[in-house]
This record gives sequence, structure tokens and C-alpha cells, in this order.
Amino acid sequence: MSQPVLVVGAGPVGLTLALALRQQEIAVRLVDRAPQPSDRSKALVIWPRTLELLDLHGCVQPFLEAGLQGHGARIQAGQRLLVALAFSRVQSPFPYALMIPQNRTEAVLTQLLAERGVQVERELELSDFAETESGVRAELTRADGSKETMQCSYLLGCDGAHSAVRHRLGLAYSGETLESNWVLADVKLDGPAAADQVAVVWNPDGILALFPIVGNRFRIIGDVSGAEAADPSLEQVQALVDQRLGSGFRAHDPIWLSHFRINERKVDRYSVGRVFLAGDAAHIHSPAGGQGMNTGMQDAFNLAWKLALVLQGKAGSQLLETYSPERSGIGDQVLRNAGVLTRVALLRQPLLRRLRNLLFSNLGRSRRLQRRLVEQLCETDLHYRGSALSPVLVRSGAGLAPGDRTPDLACSAPSGETRLHALLRNGRLVLLSVGNPRPALDSSLARDGLVSAVAAPQPGYRAGWTYLIRPDAYLCSCAPSAEQERLLAVWEAWR
Ligand SMILES: Cc1cc2nc3c(=O)[nH]c(=O)nc-3n(C[C@H](O)[C@H](O)[C@H](O)COP(=O)(O)OP(=O)(O)OC[C@H]3O[C@@H](n4cnc5c(N)ncnc54)[C@H](O)[C@@H]3O)c2cc1C
Repeated sequence: MSQPVLVVGAGPVGLTLALALRQQEIAVRLVDRAPQPSDRSKALVIWPRTLELLDLHGCVQPFLEAGLQGHGARIQAGQRLLVALAFSRVQSPFPYALMIPQNRTEAVLTQLLAERGVQVERELELSDFAETESGVRAELTRADGSKETMQCSYLLGCDGAHSAVRHRLGLAYSGETLESNWVLADVKLDGPAAADQVAVVWNPDGILALFPIVGNRFRIIGDVSGAEAADPSLEQVQALVDQRLGSGFRAHDPIWLSHFRINERKVDRYSVGRVFLAGDAAHIHSPAGGQGMNTGMQDAFNLAWKLALVLQGKAGSQLLETYSPERSGIGDQVLRNAGVLTRVALLRQPLLRRLRNLLFSNLGRSRRLQRRLVEQLCETDLHYRGSALSPVLVRSGAGLAPGDRTPDLACSAPSGETRLHALLRNGRLVLLSVGNPRPALDSSLARDGLVSAVAAPQPGYRAGWTYLIRPDAYLCSCAPSAEQERLLAVWEAWR
């Protein structure tokens, strides 16, 4: 039997990675040193792009059933509305923020994994590892101090911000810890707060952000720079609400009162040899934008399809070298965007605050800028243009460019009438001909997971062109159908 992949850390990222690998029937072990899952609600939002990727793995339904739809976000200066964002504007089959506490997300992932035969092995800590000729030798330590040594094909460090895997690789986690102190409270809140909207209120005294959880339960986050870093009392939370939201709100029944500081850090490379990092082990950012967990889960999806094809012998190991540059580029972008949002919100100087408010109220009137902000939050604007996996063969004008996310569409495949995203399931690549007959494929390509399909022209897809689409629904490359051989040569280079 082939050696399993070892996933270290059963947070949302390790669970997602193990699940996406199991979908491809890759043997996986998932270990976590904690005796039980965390009961903290931490990340409250799954954004549309992550939902799309879960859907590509046939796993989205239980999340939709467990969460609530958040329809928009508002930014206010005191009581004055500056920007109202409607998530319904996003071009996605899931045009909303799915509000679901992280412990529920982890529970759903754990259940899906169990249904695929993988249990999280708890109280098992990765204590050491070394790369060998054919894989990685990992030392696992049980709670009683006894040790187990195992051989795995690849080691995937999803072990969070204090990652032992990252330390052992000697990778710097470069960046900074911001000066500001923040409090967090998950409470019931009586008062006129919308249960399907995120609200961010900028005040001269500081920020207050309100995230709906369920019913009248909300997450309140506020900066308390200048105050001592400590968990707040319910009275202090109420005082913050009175000061920044106005009267008419009553906070009660807290389930989590905490404080935190914002770290902005990232590694330069996400892999060394057969060892890979994903999630907080590789990047950590401000909660502005709520994208930490989502970005980590998307790291997992990116790595999983590549690793599965390599382990199945359908692609060469050089494919894995695209993981780090692709995801590190996204990590930089998310870090930058969340950093700007945080610094803009924290402005204290009155003139700068007035300018900021003016700028944002103008932004609030521009539908184009609003849409960009919505796409940024929903992570539907992320792309892999410029990746070695996305060469530009022929300029495609206004249509989809190599590296872009590919919208779903109706198409016809050898199996019958279907949809593009349904064809991509199970780690397949699709060669899609638009407005032309279905391309013929040689049998070795078909055996190695490439399927051909044909579709009518659609926005983004040009008539007379052929598109090579990766299993995570990003475009590898495209060319006029007459140049299909060049397109197939792109994929041949990674086999
Ligand atoms: C208050 C708060 C609010 C947040 N809000 C959002 C939000 O709205 N949206 C969003 O996207 N993100 C949000 N985040 C960020 C999000 O919680 C993290 O990005 C996410 O938990 C990262 O997941 P992970 O799986 O990479 O790491 P973790 O969740 O930290 O999981 C790592 C796991 O590895 C295990 N482990 C560690 N070392 C070892 C070892 N040596 N051996 C075995 N196991 C090990 C740990 O026990 C743990 O279970 C928030 C975070 C906080 C704190």
C-alpha cells in the first residue's frame, strides 16, 4: 500500500485539505494534538468563492443547511451611512456571505471526513520530521509521552499560527504585530441591529463591528487602543456599544469575551521539498474582511488537486512547485487588502478621518467601486494570472484570461448534457470547446483525467475558442480552437 499523506492540524484548513484529498481517494492521516475540537466561534463567515470550491467537491450542501445568509455590509461614520454593500451583486451561485461559526464549520468538515472513512487522530502531536528519499519520516508524540514514527509521502503543515512545521523548516514568519488592542464579545444583543448585515461603525473614539451569528446573537469587535489588553466584562462591552452604536441596544448572555491583537505575517515560501504549509501556518492577517480561514481553505483546495494528480501518477511532481507561488501571491494580496482596511478604520487624526469619510461616501455612490469591494470580500476577484500554470498563448481580448476563475455553464460531454463545474469534480480537467464540435482527445489524456466538452458561447467564453480548465475552476489557458494542440501541450508539460 502507498504511504499516506500526513496532515498535521485538524483546524478548518487541515480538515478541508484531508477532505479534498479523500475525495480523490488519497490515503490520509489527520492528527491533532488537542484532545477535542475548539468550541470557539472564531471565523464567522464562509465567502462565496470558498462555497464554490466546496461545491466543486460536492460538499457544499451541509454548510448551507448549517449557516445563515448574510446579505450585505454597511460602513458608517457614527450614525451616518457611508457605504452599503449588497452581496447579491456578486456573480456566483452563492451570492451571500454564509454566516456560520468556525466550530460549526469544523464540525461539518469532520462529519464529511468521517463519512469518507477518516477520523481525526487526537492527542497526537507532530514532534519531529525529516525528509527521506521516498517521503517524510514523522515522529508523533501521544499525550502520555509515548512516540510513534511513521513514513508518509508528503507532510502538510496545517498547524496554525504557531506552526511547529514552519519552525522546523526554519521559515521566517515575517511581518508585524499592530499596536492596537481589540476586544471581542459574542453576546445576545437586543436592539435595532439587522440580523443579515455586517455593520462597521467608525467613531472618533474607535471602531465597532457587528457580525450577526444567529437570531439576536452577534459578535461585537471593537478597538480599545490605549486601554490595557484584557478580556472585557459584559459591562465594558455594553459601554462600548452605548458609546459607538448609540442608545437602544442591550448586550446580554455572553458566551465568549476575549481580547486580541492583530498580527500581519507570512512566510515567503509555502513548501520545502515534500513538506507544505497551508492556512495560518503560512499567513495571518487582520480580521478586517474576515478572510483568514477562507484563504486557508482555498490554500487547501489548490494543493489538494495537484497533490492528488501527482500521487495518482497523472501529473509530474513539478506541478507541486506551482502551489507556493500561486498561494503566496494570494496571501500577499489578502494581507495587503486587510491591512489597508484596518489602517483606514483606525485613523485618529480628525482631518484624515474627514477625508476618509468623504472618500468612502463617494465610493458608496459608485456602483463600480461597490462591486469591486464586494468581489474583494467574496474572494471572487482572486486569480492566478501570471502563474506558470496559466501561460498566455494568444491574447483573448475582453474574454477570460489564463488564471481567471471560470464561471459555470451548461455544456455537453461524452456522458451527456451537464455543467462545467460538475465535470470538474473528482479532480478532472476539462477541455472546453465553445461554439465548435467537441474536441477529440487521445486516450492517454482521457485516462489521466482530462475530459472534453462543448458549450455555446457565453459571456467570457468566445465562440471558436477552446479552454483548458483546472479542477479548481480556474482557467489554465485558452486559444482559438484551430490551435488546440498548443493548448494541450501546456498540460503535457505538467504530466
Ligand atoms: C477572533 C477571531 C475571529 C476570526 N474571524 C475570522 C473570519 O471572520 N473569517 C475568517 O476567514 N477567518 C477569521 N479568523 C481566522 C481563523 O480563525 C483562522 O484563520 C483559522 O482558524 C485558521 O485555520 P487553520 O486550520 O490554519 O489553523 P487553526 O485553526 O489554528 O488549527 C490548527 C490546528 O493544529 C493543531 N496543532 C498545532 N500544532 C500541532 C502539532 N505540532 N501537532 C498536531 N497538531 C497541532 C492545533 O491543535 C489546531 O487544532 C478569526 C480568528 C480569530 C481569532
